[in-house]
Amino acid sequence: MTTTDSTPAPNFIRNIIAEDLKANKNEGRVYTRFPPEPNGYLHIGHAKSICLNFGLAQEFGGLCNLRFDDTDPSKEEVEYVESIKEDIRWFGFDWQDREFYASDYFEQLHEYAIQLIKNGKAYVCDLSAKEIREYRGTLTEPGKNSPYRNRSVEENLDLFDRMRSGEFEDGSRVLRAKIDMTSPNLNMRDPVIYRILHAEHHRTGNTWCIYPMYDFTHGQSDSIEGITHSICTLEFEDHRPLYDWFIYALKIFHPQQIEFARLNLSYTVMSKRMLLQLIEQGYIPGWDDPRMPTISGLRRRGYTPESIRNFCERIGVAKRDSMVDIALLEYSVRENLNKRAPRVMGVLRPIRVVIDNYPENKMEELEAVNNPEDPSMGTRKIPFSRVLYIEQDDFREVPPKKFFRLAPGREVRLRYAYFIKCAGVIKDKQTGEVVELHCTYDPKTRGGDAPDGRKVKATLHWVSAAHSLSAEVRLYNHLFLKANPTDEKDGADFKTYLNPDSLETLTSCHVEPSLKGAAPGSRYQFERLGYFCVDTVDSLNEKLVFNRTVTLRDTWAKIQKFEKENMEVHKGVIKDSKPARQAEITTLPDKRGDLTPIKQEITIDDFSKIDMRVAVVREAYLVEGSKKLIRLMVDLGEGRLRQTFAGVRTTYPKPEELIGKKVIIVANLRPRQMKFGLSEGMLLSGGDSEHLCLTTFDGNPLPGDKVS
Ligand code: ATP
Ligand code: MG
Repeated sequence: MTTTDSTPAPNFIRNIIAEDLKANKNEGRVYTRFPPEPNGYLHIGHAKSICLNFGLAQEFGGLCNLRFDDTDPSKEEVEYVESIKEDIRWFGFDWQDREFYASDYFEQLHEYAIQLIKNGKAYVCDLSAKEIREYRGTLTEPGKNSPYRNRSVEENLDLFDRMRSGEFEDGSRVLRAKIDMTSPNLNMRDPVIYRILHAEHHRTGNTWCIYPMYDFTHGQSDSIEGITHSICTLEFEDHRPLYDWFIYALKIFHPQQIEFARLNLSYTVMSKRMLLQLIEQGYIPGWDDPRMPTISGLRRRGYTPESIRNFCERIGVAKRDSMVDIALLEYSVRENLNKRAPRVMGVLRPIRVVIDNYPENKMEELEAVNNPEDPSMGTRKIPFSRVLYIEQDDFREVPPKKFFRLAPGREVRLRYAYFIKCAGVIKDKQTGEVVELHCTYDPKTRGGDAPDGRKVKATLHWVSAAHSLSAEVRLYNHLFLKANPTDEKDGADFKTYLNPDSLETLTSCHVEPSLKGAAPGSRYQFERLGYFCVDTVDSLNEKLVFNRTVTLRDTWAKIQKFEKENMEVHKGVIKDSKPARQAEITTLPDKRGDLTPIKQEITIDDFSKIDMRVAVVREAYLVEGSKKLIRLMVDLGEGRLRQTFAGVRTTYPKPEELIGKKVIIVANLRPRQMKFGLSEGMLLSGGDSEHLCLTTFDGNPLPGDKVS
């Protein structure tokens, strides 16, 4: 599924499926499944798997099942099943009537086990768990055969039957597959396939006291359901030989297991077990806490399903584990909310402003635009009066350099309202802290412009004190202080890196009156501050509670700003080609100072922030409606292609000739939505603006190789 671009980016799984369809494998069926274990709430890593499995099925006209992988009765709960279903529906995916449970197959799996025993491929083993571990050997040493390995089929059948009927205690015996104790793959050293567990199961109750192990369940369940492509994460790669072994031994339909790299996200953890620890040990109140990387947490925080789906499409699928910067997730929600969230004004840390020359009992309504990105969202009225609130941060009694907002004697614009000038301040007698500002307004500047053309350097948001609503606002920061809190190198527990400031609650905020009755879950942009969402749990009509979804600016914006400055420099040189070039050629050596306004010098550290890579052009197209642009799909070895646009059409009227060429891409530019599509990197080129040539390579660097 993709929403930012009409053609989904190719990836290796899409390629496998496309090839299978070409070869008419599985009679042209594409059948996937999403198989969560109901032992916790889903997180953003699962979202990747959901988007992939449901997305591929949709794309190829197939079906995707929801299968609860509920083989472990001790950790599973109905609450989790319900939450998982809610989360998948929220993404807009539908499994129709195909809601399955591995536990539905317990009877069939039991029969499969008996079939293996009868074929001499499974045996009951009386070794203890500890002994089994000892016998298994290590990566460097082969294992030893269990003394029970050669029991007769009859004895095995009898013992397995008695295991089922509850005759033996937990842990006293297991059923094992008889494969190869010397296999270099530890999973193949006679793995346990059934264990005794006198425990009640959330669906089968007390019917069973033996339970199949995951490896003996998963592939067979795939097979029973006729799954064609069983997509799972890389840690199962070593289990694939076992997956295939069971399928062959049982002579049943053979789904193909395909592994991809799981999503890791910086400044958070991606494991239900760890997330559960945070809750059980009281660090976080619940699964849907807006700081959690869970789907329910992100939803409560204000994330939209589209933004997460776009994120999943953007990160693609790869064969190698990596860490995705959480800034990319934030970028995705910002991009989505920018289009759809109405703008409002709210003041988080208020300071009172009295407009001395504004009449006491007057109130006027000013017109404000709801979303400059979407005129169809209309306008609204906001009340203006003599007493207002602005942000404490927007005033400095002694303004530092480059502080352009309000200060004594200085004039600024109030958004949609008037210019105001600060005439004086009132301080707390004891602390000396400024508690109130006194200003004058210029009635001629209504709407935001001065008829005499004078300019101000800042526009502030504000609310009218008497008309505003009070609100609580919760600001969220990264859950962890360290990008990879589970990095085991330093041996510390991941919880040591919890960010003590991950939540900041502000209780005396004021928001504009149009927010009265705002429905839980509705999302807004608070001008200049970020995107906020009405909390679905704690917000009440009398007391609104907002969660900050994301700020307006991100860490990537800084990088982008840097890139932009450099691009402008670049453009400056090329566009005003003659004078700038001459200046460069004739005066550069002794008059570098003269160039400063055009081209700011940078340090080697600045330069190292630009991540340049080798990219191979895989697809090339003319861009319809543009005289200059061509669209290139380039390969950086990431398991998917990136889309880029280059203004080189005059040089390459037949862009196909670029296919296979190795070019240089700036790979860490923040993605940009351009008129013709999403741009995911900038290609380097040289020449004058009419004849720009892409820089290409001699020799054979690989896609993704660093360029320095
Ligand atoms: P956790 O370690 O968080 O419990 P899990 O893999 O045990 O994760 P499951 O409920 O078994 O959780 O996962 C359901 C599906 O989601 C599996 O196919 C699994 O491979 C996939 N999945 C889980 N975590 C991720 C992730 N971080 N990135 C991509 N897919 C994931
Ligand atoms: Mg699991």
